[in-house]
Amino acid sequence: MSIRVRFAPSPTGELHVGGARTALFNWLWARKCRGTFILRIEDTDLARSEARFTQAIFDSLKWLGLDWDELYLQSDRLALYRQRAEELLARGLAYPCFCTPDELEARRQHLLGKGEIPEYDGRCRSLTPGEQARLRSQGRRPALRFRVPEELKATSFHDFLRGEIQFKRLSTGDFVILKSDGTPTYNLACVVDDHAMEVSHVLRAEDHISNTPKQIWLYEAFGWQPPQFGHLSLILGPDRHKLSKRHGATTVEELRDQGFLPEAVVNALALLGWSPGTGQEVFTMETLVGAFSLERVVVAPQVFDLAKLRWLNREHLARLSPQELLFRARRFLPQGLPLSEPQLGQALVALRPSVSTLAEFGHHPDLVALATWTPPREGLGEELAAPSSQAALRAFVGRLAEVEDGQQLRPIVREIASELGLSPGQVFHALRLALTGRTEGLELSRVVEILGREETLRRILAVVEKEGSGS
Ligand code: GLU
Repeated sequence: MSIRVRFAPSPTGELHVGGARTALFNWLWARKCRGTFILRIEDTDLARSEARFTQAIFDSLKWLGLDWDELYLQSDRLALYRQRAEELLARGLAYPCFCTPDELEARRQHLLGKGEIPEYDGRCRSLTPGEQARLRSQGRRPALRFRVPEELKATSFHDFLRGEIQFKRLSTGDFVILKSDGTPTYNLACVVDDHAMEVSHVLRAEDHISNTPKQIWLYEAFGWQPPQFGHLSLILGPDRHKLSKRHGATTVEELRDQGFLPEAVVNALALLGWSPGTGQEVFTMETLVGAFSLERVVVAPQVFDLAKLRWLNREHLARLSPQELLFRARRFLPQGLPLSEPQLGQALVALRPSVSTLAEFGHHPDLVALATWTPPREGLGEELAAPSSQAALRAFVGRLAEVEDGQQLRPIVREIASELGLSPGQVFHALRLALTGRTEGLELSRVVEILGREETLRRILAVVEKEGSGS
């Protein structure tokens, strides 16, 4: 059997970590078995769906590297859902319901007040054609409800991740399949589409478990074979409460804007309910496709931890070439840095061990110092103005021609120190101050390499001249 799976987000917000995890697991499975990954935008709730969120979902999936083989928008398919709902109406499996939202809400509150399950009470179930005509003539437009036999409510289904799931009594009255404005509800559209799109396995989040029996009843009503169903775990924050905004970034877009690499986000999402069983934690997309299997998916709640993501991000940052690192970091760097491309690439490589996200490059004090430090025109700090510093800097200028790369720095500094009767530390200190304006930071040999001979000379001369002209 060919595997056909789908990710079916509702475009009512940006793509959340939970949705992205569902998308990834479906995608990995499809790629692993050379099956088909379908993207279906469930945008039939006209009041809540927005085109900008559809676009945001496309962007986030593309950024993660989750490409789809087929794409459907439910808003293009409204006639199909209506036709299917009317089929059930014609066969007596659905009926028109004329209750208004206000009436339904009042009755719901009443039942809740009595401590009862607030199900639809079946009021319109057995209206005669005459009663229906009278209600229509009052201008009421009916919704269509699916007729749920009481005996169906004690039900069960087989979940391919969880085994048998039983409901002693599923709390559902006759549920709406077509709203009074002619648009379908989620359950109807989902069933009609999963059937039409020949979806073999529905792999989705745990919060849909109670929808599954309703969907299976609809399959039976239509006389269709249902797909297999599997429900993934809940995702929690580090405090083991359901993941929410207060835990920090929860959408893919936010993670991207905070400077996480898609490789790291995918890696972290994959570990939310799946593990290879080998202890390996760092995966690329290719190694994930190779290693992924449904047998190793667990349904225990999973904690999404930004600290873990930061660690994975460092691991994936470490794997990027200097060019790639610069390409990814570019949007986070200040505009107009006076460093060449190779200088910047080298600077990022040198600073990489000290950052966890791309955004941290942007305000890294060492990068700011490298890129923007200009020696002060007046009032050199006492340390730079000291005769020993000035002598060290002058001596260094004389030896700069010998500095091919950072390697030669240390022996030259030692020689200068011994000639001037200073400690090597004093010479290093003076050089660092002159070149970066800071007393600590990146190794000096790296600084000299990144700045290059010309810029190194320019910065030192600016400091030495100042002293010379003032004395
Ligand atoms: N639109 C539903 C959601 O976003 C899809 C659920 C499903 O996969 O069936 O939760």
